[in-house]
Parts: sequence; structure tokens; C-alpha cells
Amino acid sequence: MSEKIKDVGFLMCVCTGKCPGFTKMDIWDFINRVRIELPVEYGFIHPQLCEEDGDRFLDEFLRPGRKYMIAGCAPNMQYKLFRDAFEKAGLTIKKDLIPLDIREMTTEEAVTLVEKKLEEEKEKKYE
Ligand code: SF4
Repeated sequence: MSEKIKDVGFLMCVCTGKCPGFTKMDIWDFINRVRIELPVEYGFIHPQLCEEDGDRFLDEFLRPGRKYMIAGCAPNMQYKLFRDAFEKAGLTIKKDLIPLDIREMTTEEAVTLVEKKLEEEKEKKYE
């Protein structure tokens, strides 16, 4: 696989697991392929990041100096939903969050999107 892109942590938000937007993919194949095959620091699934316990989780989890790729709902929603948590952690949401909308995608399509975005990050890093 390509060179590791340091400092990108990968989270999938699965929208409770009941959202019809994720029925085309196998979420376990997806997350396992991302964390094993792609150059991220780690990858895991959270059930619902925009619920109150998701806020508490982000408060404990986010830290400065790392970028977070979150695969879930639309980027515009993610910027709104996670802005406070990123600010609290000393992060800049437009710079430190890489939001991906993977709803309605197959496993293959979602893995390809993550790979493409990671490549773009790598290019930015060496610009
Ligand atoms: S953050 Fe987005 S993907 Fe996650 S539960 Fe909320 S609406 Fe769904």
C-alpha cells in the first residue's frame, strides 16, 4: 500500500446502524478494508456521533495535531454538527476534519472514495 499518511484518524459514523443510506454496503467489510488496507492511523465505527454521548465521546477523543476523516453524512452537516467539539479540542474544523458522505454507496465505492481523499491529503502535505 501507499506511504502512510500520518495523523489521519478514520471514523465511520453509521447513523444508528438503521439508516437506509447504509444498506448498500457491508459496513464491516468497509471499515476493515479502510483500517487494514489504507494508510490511516486507525479506523473504527461509532453508532451516532451527533447524539449526546457522541459529543461526550468527541470531547474525550479529539486532540490537536491530528486530522480526522469522518465517513457518514453530508459534509455540510458534519461541519455544523462537529464544529463545537473540534473548537473545544483546539482544532480547526475546515482544516482538521475531512468529511465524507458515503451514504448510498456500495462497499467498493466507499473504499475508493476514502482512498481518493487520502491521496488528496497526501498531495496537500507535499505541496
Ligand atoms: S453524524 Fe451524520 S451520519 Fe452520524 S448519526 Fe448524525 S446524521 Fe447520522
